[in-house]
Amino acid sequence: LVSRKAHPNDTIVEINGTKLGSGEQHFIMGPCAVESYEQVKAVALAMKAQGLTLMRGGAFKPRTSPYDFQGLGMEGLQILRQVADEVGMSIISEILTPHDVEVALQYTDVIQIGARNMQNFELLKTVGRFNKPILLKRGLAATIEEFINAAEYILAQGNDQVILCERGIRTYEKATRNTLDISAVPILKKETHLPVVVDVTHSTGRKDLLFPTAKAALAIGADAIMAEVHPDPTVALSDAQQQMNIPEFHEFMDGLKAFKEKL
Ligand code: PEP
Ligand code: MN
Repeated sequence: LVSRKAHPNDTIVEINGTKLGSGEQHFIMGPCAVESYEQVKAVALAMKAQGLTLMRGGAFKPRTSPYDFQGLGMEGLQILRQVADEVGMSIISEILTPHDVEVALQYTDVIQIGARNMQNFELLKTVGRFNKPILLKRGLAATIEEFINAAEYILAQGNDQVILCERGIRTYEKATRNTLDISAVPILKKETHLPVVVDVTHSTGRKDLLFPTAKAALAIGADAIMAEVHPDPTVALSDAQQQMNIPEFHEFMDGLKAFKEKL
């Protein structure tokens, strides 16, 4: 069902008027984790000033260590929804288990399935049963074929509102947090009809690489760029080293808008 052969036209996933897969290139920005109303509001206002409509933020965080901040859970989703409604934005947030689907349907506009759950088949089947946009991230060490099959699980249940997200894969290279597989973008666009997003934050794990990799992603045909922004990354409860602060976010956006003009 995800195959381009079966379905030659691009699938457009529309999120409150913002169309992913339509040929327009969008930006999904926001903090790694929801920490407070004030934190989310500050990011949302900066995004609004840039004309952006898609805000990300984790309420249920899949952390490598059980002793790290696990997210605010329900309270985090409520904060996201409140800010999104005040500012006029759509929200994307990750869930970790099928038990969270019900609240996610209520509070989010797009449900994110993270890299660690790309092959959580029960979760994929559950989100496949609803008519809700799903942002599916590539697994930590998943091949493109495995990634496409994970998306197939969702479509097989009837939900074709799936957005694929390349977020880097684990290789022997240690200079970056993961290795961004930029060629996955044209391969996924060729093999499937689904929109493709590139997450420059989790793939590189380096602030100094966000701008050049985002330019590469736009040039190669990504439908959207995802990156993390925090009002004060030095005190962030997760991914402190790799989130942009607000002045850096504006510089990033201004630079990418100028770059898009030249494409
Ligand atoms: C995230 O986007 O918040 C996240 C945890 O990313 P990933 O699943 O790609 O590691
Ligand atoms: Mn993060």
